[in-house]
Amino acid sequence: MADDDTIFDKILRGEIPCDRVYEDEWVLCFRDINPQAPVHAVVIPKKKARDVGELCALAPDFVGGYMAGIVKAAQRLGLEGGYRVVFNTGKDAQQSVAYVHAHILGGRVLGWPPG
Ligand code: AMP
Repeated sequence: MADDDTIFDKILRGEIPCDRVYEDEWVLCFRDINPQAPVHAVVIPKKKARDVGELCALAPDFVGGYMAGIVKAAQRLGLEGGYRVVFNTGKDAQQSVAYVHAHILGGRVLGWPPG
């Protein structure tokens, strides 16, 4: 399906540039183009899933590799003071890219609850 080919598919294939932060066999992490905090990056798995529901259907090894990749990316970003990991999922959460991605947000004290 054409609309399955998202901007993150294109970034992963190297067709669109990104400001890469971290990469390993499981994940690619790059800075968000529209940052919502002093540090804001997104982490995508190298195997396609549209959201966290689909992600959970992938092999446990892969899900574990993805989670470890998120933590390594946060370490690479130097967020010793802490950070937030967000998966916007579906319409009500305003997920705008149908390729699962973890937002890593940090670099300031983050408000709670989120909007
Ligand atoms: P969401 O709204 O949770 O689906 O998040 C999608 C995120 O992708 C938004 O924060 C966008 O700013 C970000 N984004 C969209 N296009 C790009 C791009 N080319 N490079 C980096 N981040 C992007």
